[in-house]
Amino acid sequence: MLNEYRSLLKQYYGFESFRPLQEEIIDTVVKGEDTLGIMPTGGGKSIVFQIAALARGGVCVVITPLISLMQDQVSKLNTLGIKAVALISGMSKHEVHVALDAVEYGDTPFIYLSPERLQSDVIRKRIGHIPINLIVVDEAHCISQWGFDFRPSYREISLFRDAFPSVPVLALTATATPWVARDIQKELHFQKENIFKKSFVRPNLNYRVRKLKNKDQYLISVLKKAKGSGLVYVRTRRKARIISEMLRNHGIHADFYHGGLNPEMRSQKQQDWIDGKIRIIIGTNAFGMGIDKHNVRFVVHYDVPSSMEAYYQEAGRAGRDEMRSVVVLLYNDEDRRSLGQDLEASFPDIDQVRSIYESLCNRLEIPLNSGEGRSFPIDVMEFCKKFGYTMVHVFHAMKLMEKEGYIQYMDKMQNESKVNIAIGREDLYVFQVDNPAYDKFIRVLLRMYEGVFVDYIQINEQEMADLLRWSKEKVAKVLEILDKSGVIHYSAAKKTAYISMLKNRVASDHFMFNRQKYQERKNFALERMTRMIDFCEIEQTCRSVFISNYFGEYDVTDCGVCDICQNHGSDSSTLGDKVKASLLTPMSLIRLHSVFAEEKSFPMVLDQLIKSEEVVYDKNGFLVLKGK
Ligand code: ADP
Ligand code: MG
Repeated sequence: MLNEYRSLLKQYYGFESFRPLQEEIIDTVVKGEDTLGIMPTGGGKSIVFQIAALARGGVCVVITPLISLMQDQVSKLNTLGIKAVALISGMSKHEVHVALDAVEYGDTPFIYLSPERLQSDVIRKRIGHIPINLIVVDEAHCISQWGFDFRPSYREISLFRDAFPSVPVLALTATATPWVARDIQKELHFQKENIFKKSFVRPNLNYRVRKLKNKDQYLISVLKKAKGSGLVYVRTRRKARIISEMLRNHGIHADFYHGGLNPEMRSQKQQDWIDGKIRIIIGTNAFGMGIDKHNVRFVVHYDVPSSMEAYYQEAGRAGRDEMRSVVVLLYNDEDRRSLGQDLEASFPDIDQVRSIYESLCNRLEIPLNSGEGRSFPIDVMEFCKKFGYTMVHVFHAMKLMEKEGYIQYMDKMQNESKVNIAIGREDLYVFQVDNPAYDKFIRVLLRMYEGVFVDYIQINEQEMADLLRWSKEKVAKVLEILDKSGVIHYSAAKKTAYISMLKNRVASDHFMFNRQKYQERKNFALERMTRMIDFCEIEQTCRSVFISNYFGEYDVTDCGVCDICQNHGSDSSTLGDKVKASLLTPMSLIRLHSVFAEEKSFPMVLDQLIKSEEVVYDKNGFLVLKGK
């Protein structure tokens, strides 16, 4: 068996050997056991499920939340000679049938699905006729409402799973605390617990936290000294741009990246960074997903992330080649405040979300109980003006509706650019003679696009730029100038936002929400944030130990290299210290138990701490360190 996996690895991917845990997980899945695999980003989770599926034969359904990554994976598989299809929201019924035909009648072993699609009757019915042999849930932490990236549509997966009780489930994630790991297995109705977890310890990473008033000055000075390529994470798009500019002004080779850039620009910057043409990227959390660069020497967090999960994932992009790398987090009181504000904003008032949903459906003229699967163009700015909402509110409300599986919001390029000559041939000739600077351009335009005199013709700025040896921007600029001077009509391709209805419009009183659950989720988000701040403020616990403990791993020793270890010499803390450290902020007994689930002496130690009144119950019934 194991040899079979290795030959699949060689045959399709050209790799000689497995990475840690890959083979073990494949083997247990092929045997038909429900399995949860927790492996860091870049650990090679895709290969795990792909080889497991190929070895089992039949069709594998892969459920994953990110459409962009889904399409990426499908095309990767196709280039490897493995057929795969993706069913995403926004596809027409016809397209869905064509894709499923390929699976039912062709030799296509992989179907990628976004969780919202599981609700579709057509898909459910047709998948019933397909010999499914494995269900993969990627980014499985999204199923847990206690996790840091809960998506209600992931709940549909349990029902789907129940429809195929004898098919094994393979759940994969990079980050799960013990609590979340248990929740994932429960939600997916695992026959029995079965977890494979790679250690969270990264011995080659040197974790540091700096409390600083002036982050800019510090950043400039460390980046001047730092060697090799690196990443700086910031929380907003604006900051990404500004800081990259500031660094460039100081002679540091940096560029910025965020989700608002167009796709070509994004992949260009990404590639330049991978190839070493850009040394440092200043990015938002949109940067890094699915990128595989081994020699990243440093990751700096200019702002504090909202959870340890996010922090660990981003920090973990350093040092994949196992060479020494530095991870620095910059922190001050401002971070605490802005984290708090962001948290409030990301849990908007439910009644307001409901009324925004109503207004949105009205604006799009969607009747009750209809709309599912359709997409509508929307001008959010105009919508806000018309209904008197602020952009921030609408933005967060839509995010929540997305998470709850009601809508999907997307930016798309709509139509191509078009040009029509606005004046007669004679006049144009006169214009060319009077304005020799535009002569060549106009000749190229006429040569490339016959018919521009008669009608609006689709043009492509890039094609013109290539022929003229200009930049695309310059071509667009000249088109605009000619448009302004009345020589041509130019309508540039524009970005339009769309809203795709994932479900039929529901009546206002059926619109979500379990208020209590919502509040609970907010409390958990608050707890995660608090833990993140604890990480910034700890003075005794080794950072590597703190991270591992957070993810439920206890048999780890001090790293000896982080700022704290260096300040204190090595100092392995006792279980009592660890319990106390985790109770700097209140925690429920149940959660505390789950954190220390693997420590046999935990109940005794906690008992002692309570008896000695070092640990007490607060007014909400949570445990907390006395005096905190
Ligand atoms: P994850 O989903 O765990 O973040 P991926 O599945 O995207 O990681 O894999 C990250 C990279 O590691 C990919 O480029 C993949 O080709 C590579 N990889 C995975 N397994 C192996 C292996 N056994 N040998 C060499 N490279 C591997
Ligand atoms: Mg992955």
